[in-house]
Amino acid sequence: MSRFHSYRQLTNFLDHLRNLGARISSIGKSRLGREIHLVTIGKGHKRALIVCRQHGNEPTSTEAMMEYAEELFRREDLMEKTIVSIIPMANPDGAEFYRKVCEKGRASIRSSYIARSVKPFRGDMNRDHKKKKFPEARAIAKAVEETKPNLILDLHNFFPNYEYTILRRPVHDFCPAISTNAKIKPETMRMNYKICRIASEAVERAGGNPAEINGLWPSFYGRLLMPSEKVLDTYYSMNYDIPSATFETVGGFNLCSRRMEKGKRLHKASTSAVIEQLAEDLVCCE
Ligand SMILES: [Zn+2]
Repeated sequence: MSRFHSYRQLTNFLDHLRNLGARISSIGKSRLGREIHLVTIGKGHKRALIVCRQHGNEPTSTEAMMEYAEELFRREDLMEKTIVSIIPMANPDGAEFYRKVCEKGRASIRSSYIARSVKPFRGDMNRDHKKKKFPEARAIAKAVEETKPNLILDLHNFFPNYEYTILRRPVHDFCPAISTNAKIKPETMRMNYKICRIASEAVERAGGNPAEINGLWPSFYGRLLMPSEKVLDTYYSMNYDIPSATFETVGGFNLCSRRMEKGKRLHKASTSAVIEQLAEDLVCCE
């Protein structure tokens, strides 16, 4: 019994959300033909888009946002003020194989797991938001066009990093990250920081220990060194002027259930805090 939902179990859960009143639509199909869903809840004027599971082996975002979506139906006040759109599984092929990356090309269907894992058959959709070669990246772009969000949150888990490597344990359990790309407008950048601060404060209240913004990979993988125009939080902040941030929690990869639970809890705490502030026009005000 897996501790998290498979793609099929997710689609069953979406039926449940539909019965509660959620609007479920398709924004595209994965390379291997799995539907990529968009869940929309609420009827307010402030709009958020939450992207989960671009990386297939980072499952807590999907779990957290499924629970959150269900809970929103008990929050009529919030739903009067916001429209929350969630992509619960942006990379369903990767999720099914419990692998970070996306499938690339039809040939890979017939290939073995090992063959599919090698470079010619795989790719990172979160480095593809500029060129959009992957159907999964195009699906996110479609969701952005359709939902016209005031902000975008991109949810991940982090992996063995320098904290694991040197200290053998994660000191932090939450990492808010934003791009440092100089082309992002100052006001949008200011909002990106604000979103991260709201999230970090919520994580602290929930008993977590957040890293500094962009704090987990300062030496070799930090966004200071990677002001990439391809990753989601950069791309939409830069090209559409939409405030956005990436939230990473512990969990995923090694399937430690304690970390998985914590990651899920912190994803919920941080994301819901940002949505509350959005509803009250305290962030991303026009
Ligand atoms: Zn990731």
